[in-house]
Amino acid sequence: MPKAQETVLEINLKALKHNFEYLKSRLQPNTKFLAVVKAFAYGSDACEIANYLQSLNADYFAVAYINEGIALRHAGVTKPILVLHPQSVNFKQLIEHCLEPSIYNSKILKEFINSASAEKQTNYPIHIKFNTGLNRLGFSGHDVDSIANELKATETVKVTSVFSHLAASEDLEEKRFSLNQIETFNNIAENFTKQIGYKPMRHMCNTSGILNYPEAHFDMVRCGIGLYGFGNSEKENQHLKPISTLKTVISQIHTIKQGESVGYNRAFKSDALLKTATLPIGHADGIGRQYGNGNGFVTINGEKAPIVGNVCMDMVMVNVTNIDCKEGDEVIIFGENPTAENLAASVQTISYELLTSVSQRVKRIFID
Ligand SMILES: *Cc1c(COP(=O)(O)O)cnc(C)c1O
Repeated sequence: MPKAQETVLEINLKALKHNFEYLKSRLQPNTKFLAVVKAFAYGSDACEIANYLQSLNADYFAVAYINEGIALRHAGVTKPILVLHPQSVNFKQLIEHCLEPSIYNSKILKEFINSASAEKQTNYPIHIKFNTGLNRLGFSGHDVDSIANELKATETVKVTSVFSHLAASEDLEEKRFSLNQIETFNNIAENFTKQIGYKPMRHMCNTSGILNYPEAHFDMVRCGIGLYGFGNSEKENQHLKPISTLKTVISQIHTIKQGESVGYNRAFKSDALLKTATLPIGHADGIGRQYGNGNGFVTINGEKAPIVGNVCMDMVMVNVTNIDCKEGDEVIIFGENPTAENLAASVQTISYELLTSVSQRVKRIFID
C-alpha cells in the first residue's frame, strides 16, 4: 500500500467482499440481501460500493433520500433501490429514476398514489413500513384496514414488501423487547397479506438483527454497518474487516517551550518542553471539535499521539514528544487499529457517526 501524501480515505474492496460473504453465510440461501448504502455508503462512496456489490450479486439497495438514489442510477446501478425516507416534493424524480419509496403514513401513501397516477404508472413498486416499537417512522398495526382499502381502490401501486425496524437489535439485554417487535411484525404482516390478497416480501433485520435474530430474517435483510466492517460487538467484529482507513501526513513539526500555547484560543498551554505535529485534517474533514484537547488521538509509527488544543477547520495539532517521527511521515486516524469504533469511543460516540462524518473533500482511494 503506498504511503499517504495527503489526507485520504482508503477503501479496501477485498475487505468489503469478505464482509459481504461473511454476512451472506449467516443467511438462509434464499434470503435476499439488501445493501444499505445511504450517506455515501457510510462515508465510503455509495456509487463505487453499490456497483461493486451489484457485481457480487447483492439483490437490493437502500438509501435514505431520493437524491442519493438518483446518484446511484446515474452511476449505473440497475438493481432495485428502496428509498427509506422519501419526501413527496421529489416523487416525480423518484418515479423517473425507478426508485421504490418506503411508505410510512397515510399522507405519504395518498401523495404517492397521486404522483404515480399523474405519471400514468400501474403496479408501481412500493414498500409499506410498520412501526413496531422504534417510534420513528411507520404505520401502526391499526392502520392495516385503511391502507388495504386505499390500495384496493387503485391499480397505480403494488406492495413489493412490508417491513419494520428493530430498535435495539445490538443490545441483548433488550432481547425480550426485540422478540416482541418480531412477533408484532409477524402478526401485522400476516393480517396485511390477508387484507390485500397477495403476499409481499417481509424484512426487518439490520446488521445486528442479522447476527442476533436469525428467526427474523424473513425474505430479505437490510445490511449497513456490517458491510463496512463493524458488527456492534467484540465477538462479531472479529469476523468482519473495516473497509476504510483514514490517513494523513505530518505537515510540520514544532518545538513548544514551557509556557507557550498551541492553537486557537490558546486552549492548550504547555508546562514542559514538547514537540507537536500539525496535520492537514480538521473538523471540516470529519474530525469534530469534541476530539480536541486530549480526547481523541491519531497513530504515528504505531504510537498514539493525542490531539492538542482545539481542532481547527483544516488542521489538528498532536503531541509527538515521545514519538520518533518527521515531517512527511504517514499518520493513521482510523483503520484496522485503532478502528473507527475505537476512535469514536474516545468521544462517546459510535462508528456510524465517525464514518459518515468524513467529508466529501477527503479523497477516496479504492484498493482491491
Ligand atoms: C440504516 C438502516 C439500516 C442499516 O442498519 P445497520 O445497523 O447499519 O445495518 C437498516 N434499515 C433501516 C430502516 C435503516 O435506516
